[in-house]
Amino acid sequence: MRIQFCGADRTVTGSCHLLEINGLRVLLDMGMYQGPRQLARQFNEWIPDGAASADAVILSHGHLDHCGKLPVLLRAGYAGPVYCTPATAEVARIVLEDAAQIQQEDAAYLNRRARPPGEPPVQPLFGPEDVPQVLKRWSRVGYGQRTEIASRNGGESIAFTFLDAGHILGSAYVLIEYRENNQLRTLLFTADIGRYNTPIIRDPDPLPGPVDLVITESTYGDRTHAPMSQVEPQLLGLLRETIDRRGRLLVPSFAVGRTQTVLYYMQKFIHERLVPPLPIYVDSPMGVEISRVHSEFAENYDQQTRELIGHHDLFGLTRVTFAASAQQSRQINADRGPCVIIASSPTCEFGRILHHLKHSLERESDCVAFVGWTPPLTLGRRLQEGQKRVRVLDRWYDVRCRVQTIHGLSAHADREELLQFLAPTLVSRTRAYVVHGEPDQAEGLATSLLERGIGSVVVPAEQTAALHV
Ligand SMILES: [Zn+2]
Repeated sequence: MRIQFCGADRTVTGSCHLLEINGLRVLLDMGMYQGPRQLARQFNEWIPDGAASADAVILSHGHLDHCGKLPVLLRAGYAGPVYCTPATAEVARIVLEDAAQIQQEDAAYLNRRARPPGEPPVQPLFGPEDVPQVLKRWSRVGYGQRTEIASRNGGESIAFTFLDAGHILGSAYVLIEYRENNQLRTLLFTADIGRYNTPIIRDPDPLPGPVDLVITESTYGDRTHAPMSQVEPQLLGLLRETIDRRGRLLVPSFAVGRTQTVLYYMQKFIHERLVPPLPIYVDSPMGVEISRVHSEFAENYDQQTRELIGHHDLFGLTRVTFAASAQQSRQINADRGPCVIIASSPTCEFGRILHHLKHSLERESDCVAFVGWTPPLTLGRRLQEGQKRVRVLDRWYDVRCRVQTIHGLSAHADREELLQFLAPTLVSRTRAYVVHGEPDQAEGLATSLLERGIGSVVVPAEQTAALHV
């Protein structure tokens, strides 16, 4: 077994690992690096040696930092299957189509600027025409369905099983079984593990038992989130205030996962008559599509969600308007409240949230509620930090509305939750590789794993570390 660490090493983005087992080459994820332009371009153009002729890709979930380089891999000649859960196939399709659009717009924007003479125009990494090629490679595998990958050179096959990672709809962690020196061995790839008690999706499936090798994420490997139980009362309080003030509650949000979580809570409050009915708007084309995919894969819902909705559609319990078109989005401006508007993006740097902010920032009755971490140097962060005058597109605004942050919502397990998930394999025979975390988080988790009894831990170096294990 050889593991090549090709991405998300000492960072949280660009997940990709290349396994070589019994002559088989298998990629775990093919994620896009999201970060400074120059660095992103360099990483995202790079295809690790041997990846284009790999035997299979196992895709853990549909986030861009896990699936975003699949079109680049196909352009490099990859012609094998991409194994993923049925829900991930849909989520990843929507995410890749959106990314292709952004790639094209970005290249067009850069090419409009002056270039030094002789410098060729910027080419997008891939375009919308590349996405259907990826879709042809999907090989859908349900949770718990043990699947063999046959060797092409007469060597031993390997098998993998997806189990629910509780991170976003369709997300999986991967258990790989292989034979080495006549011994059955196991490798766990956690990919991204979710928080316990997250609404809609199930908790991470319990790990069936100890494994030999672990590649684990560590996004919040050294941090503790606010309890999930705090989320509901915080949101309910904000909604009640919004109704009392007859204002608008703006929620800047990721389109994948977070939008649906907020929507779930809002509908639950109305359905359980904790607040009177009020209009709810989902204003993001991708948010609308991803919400629809949730409804198509209702079998992935957790027990509480099933009990709440009965035979109804999760997002049809109350009056929800899904604004897909720009015209539908503009129509929301006529609603002065009380209402809830969930719109992308969470950074407030782009997306439809901008025109809603223009209509709400100077109104004392309105509220902007952040539902997650906001990167520095963004409009979202400036608002969150309490700046009283901000620029939105072409104009300055005095911030008179309330600005609140809801704590506790995260798509990633924190340190204790990761340790809870990994508990069955915190034994001396297990060797762990800690990835998908900034250095302080990865090293913090590594220390905790050793303290709790795991055999050995490595935090691999950036991008190209190759280990024979
Ligand atoms: Zn993810």
